[in-house]
Amino acid sequence: MILVISTGSSSIKFQLFQQDENQAFISICKGWAERIFVDGVITIEYKGEKHTYEKPLTNYVETINYIFDYLKALKVINSIEEIKGIGHRVVHGADQFKQSMLASQKVIKELEQINLAPLHNPAAIAVLKIMDEMLNVKNVLVFDTSFHNTIEPEKFLYPVDYQWYEQFKVRRYGFHGISYRFICKKLAAILNKPENKVNAIVCHLGNGASVCAIKNGLSFNTSMGLTPLEGLMMGTRCGDIDPSIADYIASQTGQTISQITNSLNKQSGLLAISNISSDIRDVIKAMNSHDKRATLAIKMFVQRIAKYIVDYANQLKVALDAIVFTAGIGENSSLIRQMVIDEVSLLNLKIDVKANETKYDQFNLISQAPSQYPIYAIRTNEEIIICEDTNLLINQN
Ligand code: ADP
Repeated sequence: MILVISTGSSSIKFQLFQQDENQAFISICKGWAERIFVDGVITIEYKGEKHTYEKPLTNYVETINYIFDYLKALKVINSIEEIKGIGHRVVHGADQFKQSMLASQKVIKELEQINLAPLHNPAAIAVLKIMDEMLNVKNVLVFDTSFHNTIEPEKFLYPVDYQWYEQFKVRRYGFHGISYRFICKKLAAILNKPENKVNAIVCHLGNGASVCAIKNGLSFNTSMGLTPLEGLMMGTRCGDIDPSIADYIASQTGQTISQITNSLNKQSGLLAISNISSDIRDVIKAMNSHDKRATLAIKMFVQRIAKYIVDYANQLKVALDAIVFTAGIGENSSLIRQMVIDEVSLLNLKIDVKANETKYDQFNLISQAPSQYPIYAIRTNEEIIICEDTNLLINQN
């Protein structure tokens, strides 16, 4: 079995995979520990049943121990020895980690030295260290940034003081790379062509959202930057804005730059404009009841996605195999898909209204002739990529 872990500042999501007779990994159980350090609740989904445990979770060690205790109590595992590898999702690999890595003391040290992602990496590193010390299991790190290491300097550099790049590694890194890898692989299977021939624009629209231009199966450009704050308007993140806003607001309010950055990360985007919610379902509902701010938020959200699609189609300069919508919003909101495509007037794209509304399992072709390019909704699966990388690395070493 392979355990896949995704750690947030107050949560640990996990999924357990088991190899079937064809060596394919199948998800057998998933769960999440939430509100760690606050009060604590662990939920485990196994064999179609949901088990919820309310338990004070005061630290990660305790949380991890409870997770394993419950997995044993539910007979998902008999002992931890059945788990052959643990794959950890790590948000920021900076320019050091160009691919997934087996954890070692040296690797963990290097990872700790990346100070580019103070909001994202520390929790994952804490849990990784605990598991590395506590269990006799190999740990593997899979990075959200690695897929983007093929982006060229003219696209990853900011036009700012070059020393910021040389001294402080200020550049665009891009995120959601694990999801883009899955989509690229899936597209290759759908289109029946090699992965290294796939050309596509993928819109990963979740609470965090980004767009990726994929050329010959590699990341060519993506909308997030040094941190996940750049690019599209998101649930609570602002995306692209004039950087001098920070200085101006600091002078007007006395807030520090980090307070303002926190607001740009956590109080902006759909939440700020709609004044209702960061969850697009709530905002769409309000828009349908003619709420002005909600309508404005959705318009802004959609226009920015369209802007990137047009820009990337222009940059790619090749016929696209697909335009893809994925993640929570992209997979589930036919309305947002339709609105985005309606906004892309420079390409001749045409949604098949009926197909767009159709329920689907893994993927759905939602365009119709004479659409210039096929348009798909595809369900992403970052966990399976982490699981497969983990399996590969623990068997190589
Ligand atoms: P993240 O992994 O970044 O937290 P997700 O990929 O889970 O985000 O996506 C969360 C977003 O997906 C939320 O804005 C939520 O409203 C949206 N979403 C989920 N289900 C639906 C749905 N059926 N229709 C529209 N939006 C949905």
